[in-house]
Amino acid sequence: MNDILPPDSADWEWLEDKVRGLMARFAYRNMRTPIVEPTALFVRGLGEVTDIVEKEMYSFEDKLNGEHLTLRPEATAGVVRAVVEHSMLYEGGKRLYYMGPMFRHERPQRGRYRQFHQIGAEALGFPGAQVDAELILLAHSLWRELGLTNVELQLNSLGQPEERRAHRSALIAYLEKNVDALDDDARRRMYSNPLRILDTKNPAMQDVVNAAPRLLDFLGEASLKHFDTVKSILDANGVPWTMNPRLVRGMDYYNLTVFEFVTTQLGSQGTICGGGRYDYLIEEIGGKPAPAVGWALGVERVLELLKEQGAKAPTPVPDAYAIIPDAQRLPAVMAALQTLRAAGVSVQMHTPTAAGEDMGSMKSQFKKADASGARHALIFGADEMARGAVTVKALRDGDGQQQEQPLNAISAWAPSLLTTV
Ligand code: ATP
Ligand code: MG
Repeated sequence: MNDILPPDSADWEWLEDKVRGLMARFAYRNMRTPIVEPTALFVRGLGEVTDIVEKEMYSFEDKLNGEHLTLRPEATAGVVRAVVEHSMLYEGGKRLYYMGPMFRHERPQRGRYRQFHQIGAEALGFPGAQVDAELILLAHSLWRELGLTNVELQLNSLGQPEERRAHRSALIAYLEKNVDALDDDARRRMYSNPLRILDTKNPAMQDVVNAAPRLLDFLGEASLKHFDTVKSILDANGVPWTMNPRLVRGMDYYNLTVFEFVTTQLGSQGTICGGGRYDYLIEEIGGKPAPAVGWALGVERVLELLKEQGAKAPTPVPDAYAIIPDAQRLPAVMAALQTLRAAGVSVQMHTPTAAGEDMGSMKSQFKKADASGARHALIFGADEMARGAVTVKALRDGDGQQQEQPLNAISAWAPSLLTTV
């Protein structure tokens, strides 16, 4: 679990701002659900035989009432619970997004943390393949907006439950024939969740899974048509994709379209975003049956990839740094700073870090002003304040030009302090 500190936190805010802007343009609305949910929600929602439910959840018993609770390992189950609880689909479909921390008890390594952050988008109540495509276009637009390159879109279709059942029988028969090539995990899941075996990261098992019966070959006409529609919309939008017949995703709840955005630049944790359709989850969680599709991206991995590709969010600097020679004038100075901030100027006030009222020498205050990165210093000296004015000095450009400005007309000159990019 990481502390996210300045200056790195500026990268987080930059990414979050980009996401908010983009979600607004796709008309997805923000939603926030609790960090803690009943454990049963995740067991039902994700499926009992999944990595998350089997070994990754932070679960505990509420000491007061014995309730079984879990720190959310992902947000889709919580979103669906809230959508059902508040009858949000009563008037039709909903487009939603969220951002926030998730918790999984995994072995920590590069790109894999125990508290990590996801941003996710969900479209609930829409059965059509165009919404699958819209969500993929949304993620694709985000990479563009962030300036990310080298992100590959992988697609697969998981079909419908009855198609999966037919494939499952064929798969189990195949695995039984090849049981010697399976690791312990695979043998344990052979009958409970054989599809997940195809998702194995064990290098020794790649040959046996590569030759396994493909789910795609078991899909009926409607499932294939749904998949074709998604692909043709992506093609029409110039979004490249590759087919990955082994893409099954971590959770049980997916059907039809599944996808991942993958990069080779992050070592073995190369998936930055994953999602798909989950038409049966809402009913599973106790709602009236309704279709849904969504994705979640890993914020840490996206930021790490940005760093890897040399992209950097602009470092925030204040427009002005207030130099205050005399502590006695603080009330009047701070009133002036308030007016500046109300006019949109960002101002950092000089503040001594040692105990006592001494503000420090002008020289040391100017040093701090320089270090802050501010483009202007505001000098609240005794002489100019007696005249009802403040001296504005350029710190970065204009050869240190300075000019007195009246304190009773701040809003008239405040805009001249704003950094224009
Ligand atoms: P993986 O196969 O890497 O374990 P997953 O299938 O468990 O991924 P999802 O549950 O689909 O991942 O989560 C969506 C995204 O969240 C992932 O693609 C990844 O970018 C990110 N993510 C998942 N687990 C972690 C983690 N422990 N630390 C950081 N990011 C994570
Ligand atoms: Mg995982």
